[in-house]
Amino acid sequence: MTYIGRFAPSPSGPLHFGSLVAALGSYFQAKSQQGLWLIRIEDLDPPREVEGATELILKALDAYGLHSDKPIVYQSERHDLYQAQIEQWLEQNQAYYCQCTRKQIKATGGFYTGTCRGKQISDDRQCSVRLKVDHPITEFSDEKHGTISIPEDLAKEDFIIKRRDGLFAYNLAVVIDDIDQGITEVVRGADLIEPTGRQISLYHELGEPEVKYLHLPLALDENGNKLSKQNHATAIDLDNPKPTLLMAMTFLGFKISEELEALNIASIIQWGVDNWSLDQLPSETEITPRFSNGSL
Ligand code: GLU
Repeated sequence: MTYIGRFAPSPSGPLHFGSLVAALGSYFQAKSQQGLWLIRIEDLDPPREVEGATELILKALDAYGLHSDKPIVYQSERHDLYQAQIEQWLEQNQAYYCQCTRKQIKATGGFYTGTCRGKQISDDRQCSVRLKVDHPITEFSDEKHGTISIPEDLAKEDFIIKRRDGLFAYNLAVVIDDIDQGITEVVRGADLIEPTGRQISLYHELGEPEVKYLHLPLALDENGNKLSKQNHATAIDLDNPKPTLLMAMTFLGFKISEELEALNIASIIQWGVDNWSLDQLPSETEITPRFSNGSL
């Protein structure tokens, strides 16, 4: 079976150091196994998107020598697929409309306890759609971290597949697309360990074989916060990519030699593919990188 991996950024801002780490890690993991590597733009949540971010992300990936092996997929063009699946589950009584607000759920302890499960609500206005979780996933295996446990309250929650505001939920779209694109392993930042159980539930519900998972260390800023587009993490340099590329590779556990530093971007990436190993990848899930010039 051909390995197929992917990088799936949301266009909520330009690529920052943390997302470059995820892009590189997924690329090295795919290419070191003679696999394909795909780019998917997760433009599912227009209110959180920043104009021009998609173009900037694609430009950055290009500047860092990371090219998709297939045409880029955009989630904004795939709503019919997500909606059809939701409707099928609603018909089969595997999903249901829910009127509870986030505030109400918070007031009852923070976890959704199935309040609307038996209510047979048919009016979809001001409702979210939840999937019935009959077989909670309480653990999964990560290629680096081994068995990861999921708290029971979280695992057994009937989770949202379509939001009250009408937007499709990330967990649903990501799984439908990963299946559709034939993804065999999901490589991404450790901030997405938490929803993995829900995503595995969706594979089971869809009767599809599970994929493998590898979660990469998250880059934190000096205050211990995740570098994120919401936190306005600095965009990576597109004009002079080499220093940032080498920093990101150091973060992923590579030892960078002077000879390597002298190569061009494409050769550095190829060296990364040839020398990638999960043993060298740090096993922490969160790291504050310290680089000689102190910048990220
Ligand atoms: N779109 C998600 C993000 O940018 C990543 C999805 C994934 O890799 O599963 O955080």
